[in-house]
Amino acid sequence: MSLRAEILSIGDELTSGQRLDTNSQYLSQRLSDLGIHVRYHTTVGDEFSDNVLAFRAAAARAHIVIATGGLGPTADDLTREAISEAFSLPLEMRPEAMAHIESLFALRKRPMPERNRVQAMFPQTSKIIPNPHGTAPGIDLEVMVEDREPNHRCRLFALPGVPAEMIEMLNVTVIPRLVQDQGAGAVQWRYHTLKVFGIGESDVEQLLPDLIARNRIPRVGITVSKATITLRIAAQTASQAEFEQLVAPTVREIRDALGDRVFGEGEIELHEAVHQILDERSLRLGVIEVGASCRIGHMLAKLQSHTQRGLVLSQWFACESELIRYLEQDAIAASSGTEVTLQSALAQAAEKILERNDLDRCLAAGVYPTLRDVASAETIPYADFTMCLARRDAPTKTTTVSLGGHPDVLYHRLAKTGLNFLRLDLIGRDSRAQETRSHRA
Ligand code: AMP
Ligand code: MG
Repeated sequence: MSLRAEILSIGDELTSGQRLDTNSQYLSQRLSDLGIHVRYHTTVGDEFSDNVLAFRAAAARAHIVIATGGLGPTADDLTREAISEAFSLPLEMRPEAMAHIESLFALRKRPMPERNRVQAMFPQTSKIIPNPHGTAPGIDLEVMVEDREPNHRCRLFALPGVPAEMIEMLNVTVIPRLVQDQGAGAVQWRYHTLKVFGIGESDVEQLLPDLIARNRIPRVGITVSKATITLRIAAQTASQAEFEQLVAPTVREIRDALGDRVFGEGEIELHEAVHQILDERSLRLGVIEVGASCRIGHMLAKLQSHTQRGLVLSQWFACESELIRYLEQDAIAASSGTEVTLQSALAQAAEKILERNDLDRCLAAGVYPTLRDVASAETIPYADFTMCLARRDAPTKTTTVSLGGHPDVLYHRLAKTGLNFLRLDLIGRDSRAQETRSHRA
């Protein structure tokens, strides 16, 4: 049986939004490592009756509850009393906890305020969770709750809110008890991720209808960030080897369905995947970007400083090229006669930079729109984005795509579309672009 857990975060500073609940994130990750499925995060303020209800509800639906906060000595710290009330277990004084608190004050050469005595009070039948560096010991209690299923037992741990104390007590005392008493850790959640670009989230689901289903083993989850899709395959297994065997058919199925749109496995970004190919083959690349962003060059330049091998970035190098003529078209007016298109201007600029710098590829991309202008409009901003790839000893490839998205995402999408155009060429795949040989000057 899989263990269900609930994390209960307590404090007005959390519910009011003044402080971010980082304890829940940490606790969930650690429990997940132990194969424990965290089903609820509950956050409750410093209100006694709310706390009582929250503890009862959590204990009724989870096998393991870890609460943080409310164990301090002040009047707004109600966790002890709330647990006592919720499960009808009167508080009793624990001399060993009292001795520890007194010794801490003695060590710090300060008299112990009377209020700190309350931190040595524990619900009957509970165990102490030592807090080596603080005055608030934690509570470890097993309760029986009949609400939902017969003989439902819940192991409840209450820890201080201070993250450093909470983490130490979790690792030193709580996790060993979970492993020993609840059999946690025999299996672990393990993850295998596939990174995908060039397709929408719903298209992925359509191509992989059976994979995204709930209750499938292994599970496949889909998330999107900055126009990149992450497919996370998850399963609980006792060993990494067992996990790899279990997920292999799913990985194969995804790769078959999505093909070249899968650009990597693990925590890799698209520009890193492109850089890896360039680096492995010692290819020299130039990048020209036009408009309100130079994101491709920026992303690759961050990696360049680490490797310094085979990668040349040239932005805005195309000074005398037709690119300038294109950009200044309005200024020079139609009097020059021939119209310069963005495609031909970018292609020529890329070819010149390729030749002059003895590169293997030169990618020219643009125009990044000015988002400020469009962001105020109600329509979704979109851009026509042209990409030209000049290649050594091969015709230049060009294409123009129309892309839209929220202003926060659009630059990422445009830049990644450019990177992906380059990547598909590097791995020898047609990126559905026409090949054009622009007029070399
Ligand atoms: P308490 O144990 O309620 O006295 O909390 C002590 C301090 O720990 C609070 O003042 C917060 O700054 C911090 N804290 C409490 N709960 C959390 C939480 N869930 N995540 C991060 N910090 C917390
Ligand atoms: Mg508090």
